[in-house]
Amino acid sequence: MTEERKSIRKKIRATKEMGRIMSEYFYELDAAAKSSDKKVAWCSSVGPAEILRSLGFHVYFPENHSAMLGATRMATDLIPYANAIGYSPDICSYLTADVGAYLKNLTPLSRAYPGIESIPKPDVMVFNTNQCRDVQDWFGWFAEQYHVPMVGVYTHRGIGGVTEAHVQSIAQQMEEMIEPLEKVSDNGFDMNELKRVMALSRECSILWKKVLDTAAAVPSPLTFFDGTIHMGPAVVLRGTRQANDYYRVLLAELEERVKNHEGAVEGERFRLYWEGMPIWGRLRQHSELFGGLKACMVASTYCNSWIFSAFDPADPFTSMAKAYTELFIVRSDEAKERYIKEMIDFFKIDGVVYHDAKTCPNNSNNRYGMPQRIEKETGVPSLVINGDLNDLRCLSDEQANTNIEAFIEQLEENR
Ligand code: SF4
Repeated sequence: MTEERKSIRKKIRATKEMGRIMSEYFYELDAAAKSSDKKVAWCSSVGPAEILRSLGFHVYFPENHSAMLGATRMATDLIPYANAIGYSPDICSYLTADVGAYLKNLTPLSRAYPGIESIPKPDVMVFNTNQCRDVQDWFGWFAEQYHVPMVGVYTHRGIGGVTEAHVQSIAQQMEEMIEPLEKVSDNGFDMNELKRVMALSRECSILWKKVLDTAAAVPSPLTFFDGTIHMGPAVVLRGTRQANDYYRVLLAELEERVKNHEGAVEGERFRLYWEGMPIWGRLRQHSELFGGLKACMVASTYCNSWIFSAFDPADPFTSMAKAYTELFIVRSDEAKERYIKEMIDFFKIDGVVYHDAKTCPNNSNNRYGMPQRIEKETGVPSLVINGDLNDLRCLSDEQANTNIEAFIEQLEENR
């Protein structure tokens, strides 16, 4: 490849507004944790946040914090402190980075938001094992440190179709959470309030999907790397007006780009799909590397994971149970393969990049022959990058970059 590589990263104007609402969110959480009359719930990223908001909790998402530890490249140095107390370097590096940060009394929130000295102290921990078992162990450790109760939903995993029996069992577990949560929150459960929050969450999901779907345009107005930043409100503020107002602003900007045929990657030549977790400490480098090769990473399973199409405010528990169980990560390989093939089609994908994240088997879908099966059926080539979401010791930059460049050359030759 002799052509000079130059990548111009197009800034999204709405980023400033997102910074404002995220800052407001963290300062409110910090204030709630310090006050005697407000309550904080910690929630796993695809846990029942709507129930918590309806009960008046301020909701904090440890995975979001761990992603910040990764993006600020603090995680790799903190993981060994969790290893030293018995958490293996092979398990979730969100967990180990977060435990390490707590043990060292460090948080990236302090640098990003002056005046915030620590993560918000929880009053209760709430998880759903739909994504993995690690969240249960992670939250359990913190529940012991803070001497607070923990409640959880135990989800069936590796399922093909989501059946009535799956949905009913999850809906029942969610209803059974209400009583212990009411005791912590001091607020009585109000079905109308849950319906109101659900309606907002549903709207957030619809808007977020529309944002991501703009990437079907050629050239794509956004990249997966943009998506990992702009998904923040869909994760931590779903169920609030702020998130929805924000996504309307972002959507308008992206639709304007589509109208003007303005691509996120100048001279877009290849359209790629990212399967797996981001490598948080290398977002900028990867965005520049792919951009410089005129390859736009247009879409990903990861960003799509906060689309909850089944949400129905008229039937909160059943629809929440369905939405949080039909997620990609919960499903069998057959269901996942069907989904990826649909994405390849919808986003007009030239190549799929699988990230084999050393410490997250739950989000590493290359390990049982899936890339080969999909490639055989679609003719769309794939590449596997070995790395990790947070532990940069698992990534060889040199090897990853060489493999990415060779992959793009292969796509070029195939043209
Ligand atoms: S899904 Fe993976 S990254 Fe997320 S909490 Fe579970 S093990 Fe960690």
